[in-house]
Amino acid sequence: MRIDIITCLPRLLESPFADSILQRAQDKGLVEVVVHDLRKYSLDKHHRVDDYAFGGGAGMVLMMEPIVRCFDALKSEREYDEIIYMSPDGELFSQAMANELSLKGNLMILCGHYKGVDERIREHYITKEISIGDYVLSGGELAAAVVADAVIRLLPGVLSDETSALTDSFQDGLVAPPVYTRPAEFQGFKVPDVLLSGHQKNIENWRFEQSVKRTEEKRPNQKK
Ligand code: SAH
Repeated sequence: MRIDIITCLPRLLESPFADSILQRAQDKGLVEVVVHDLRKYSLDKHHRVDDYAFGGGAGMVLMMEPIVRCFDALKSEREYDEIIYMSPDGELFSQAMANELSLKGNLMILCGHYKGVDERIREHYITKEISIGDYVLSGGELAAAVVADAVIRLLPGVLSDETSALTDSFQDGLVAPPVYTRPAEFQGFKVPDVLLSGHQKNIENWRFEQSVKRTEEKRPNQKK
């Protein structure tokens, strides 16, 4: 898989991909994440990428031209399965969407900034709009990192234990059961006996019951 992220603030996307699981995934060649600085595609001598909104009002708007030049440059190299725009009014991101995207080959993600992007980009170039929640961020970068993280950890071989992504919350319509580690007792707080019993079947049953109970408590409307 290859993920191209287009932003006017590339530094915001440096650290999320430079550590831990996401970095290892790239080192192993399972995914390539390439961040593109929109300013490099600006023909303006000051590398401007934004301008005032027609009709007036506060806030700058990302201009079409640098974005389209970047899209064209990337599209001339390979085909893209989706050209995604991060947007607070997009489709709400979910585990199901992460699963779907993890099956694709090449993804492009455009990050907005300021007031957003010229609407004609959304109308004519974007194939999918994603929101990470009903709140407004100052830019699409953190949202793009959230989407890329959720997708990359699903790629086969990224997590050391292949089954561990499958036992995460939401994969089976249930949230995950509680987990514990050593010591078995700390300041009088004990780990449930069943987890220390060594009886695998009972442990599995207990975990499943806990998942069901937690889902009812924490996500009563979760679709099964
Ligand atoms: N004026 C816009 C908000 C712009 S916020 C509005 O009211 O809808 C600037 C940029 O941050 C957006 O273009 C988008 O790319 C990103 N962004 C903000 N909130 C987001 C969210 N919840 N999910 C995804 N992207 C978001």
